[in-house]
Amino acid sequence: DVQLSDRVNSIKPSPTLAVTNRAAELRAAGKNIIGLGAGEPDFDTPDHIKQAAIRALNEGFTKYTAVDGTPGLKKAIIAKFKNDNGLSYEPNQILVSCGGKQSFFNLSLALLNDGDEVVIPAPYWVSYPDMVLVANGKPVIVTTTQEQRFKMTAEQLEAAITERTRLVVLNSPSNPTGVAYSLDELKALGEVLKKHPDVLIATDDMYEHIQFSDQPFCNIVNACPELYERTIVLNGVSKAYSMTGWRIGYAAGPAKLIGAMKKIQSQSTSNPTSIAQVAAQAALEGDQACVAEMVKAFKQRHEYVVEALNAINGVECIPADGTFYAFPSFQGVIDADPRFENDIDLAEFLLSDAGVALVPGSAFGAPGNMRLSFATSLETLQDAIGRIKKAIEG
Ligand code: PLP
Repeated sequence: DVQLSDRVNSIKPSPTLAVTNRAAELRAAGKNIIGLGAGEPDFDTPDHIKQAAIRALNEGFTKYTAVDGTPGLKKAIIAKFKNDNGLSYEPNQILVSCGGKQSFFNLSLALLNDGDEVVIPAPYWVSYPDMVLVANGKPVIVTTTQEQRFKMTAEQLEAAITERTRLVVLNSPSNPTGVAYSLDELKALGEVLKKHPDVLIATDDMYEHIQFSDQPFCNIVNACPELYERTIVLNGVSKAYSMTGWRIGYAAGPAKLIGAMKKIQSQSTSNPTSIAQVAAQAALEGDQACVAEMVKAFKQRHEYVVEALNAINGVECIPADGTFYAFPSFQGVIDADPRFENDIDLAEFLLSDAGVALVPGSAFGAPGNMRLSFATSLETLQDAIGRIKKAIEG
């Protein structure tokens, strides 16, 4: 029997991928399953982006690139930060990686020593705690409630910070809740962070462009420019440009930390795929109309989904500010029905009985809720929510 490392035994496989796989299994067995578990847009990658990659391929751009990204892509990222976010970076402050996932992985490995604490507000993106654990760090989970719109308060942040805190993670708009912090809320968090000069901040802006309101996007550095020196901004093309399979994410921050993350990457994957980098550059530099088009569809589906979920007995869904996720509470259903002990039971029931795959909230540190991805057609959503309502209300 192979003895595995404590490291790998301390983590679990991604639960969102597990739901997707389970749905695929049932489908292969002939069942009619609607998968609302996946975290990716249902649109094709826009054509001008694909064409750029095809050109690069035909031109023989198929070899190693610089570990930290091609000069062309880095230039496009720097321009993006300047234009969209009002943030200035030099090339040695930018690292391009194989998806946003690798960016955070590099960050954890470059920053954390054994037992270093990372403050992670829950509900959280499933991968943060596990990636911190892989780096032998200690996730410190701050639980937020639906009543507070799943947003960490300044008091909660203050209470979570200790002498061992190295990093605070912010993700807005959030996967899985879809809620975004306002500028004032970020300013309040910034006031706390200003008092703790040794703490770094990671702002995961992956859903920056998928917002429903006309309010401009803002992150913690916009709210509190003094934090620029110790904030690492994470972003990528996966969600905004429907490019999840291309695996391009990027990070910007202090040159020393970015250099350390690059060193980690140089000993793991090296550069991200050459032609995917060309495609990402085309995405950032090209016409942004494709983003607006997708956001328009997400907004319309969001309105339908929130209303339809709230019409189910025992279900409560707050409206989101962005992303393509709804995060309704099913606690009323769980409490009322002796068949269900918790959200995992309920998710299993909805999958086997209604043929709808949702991700149980406990995967995101929020038992009692469920994540529903509305990155699928309105028709499919109507079918899915109809099935859920029927299965629950009998
Ligand atoms: N950050 C958040 C909040 C996400 O939801 C995701 C994807 O689900 C990522 C980062 C990573 O994206 P990718 O590695 O696909 O670029």
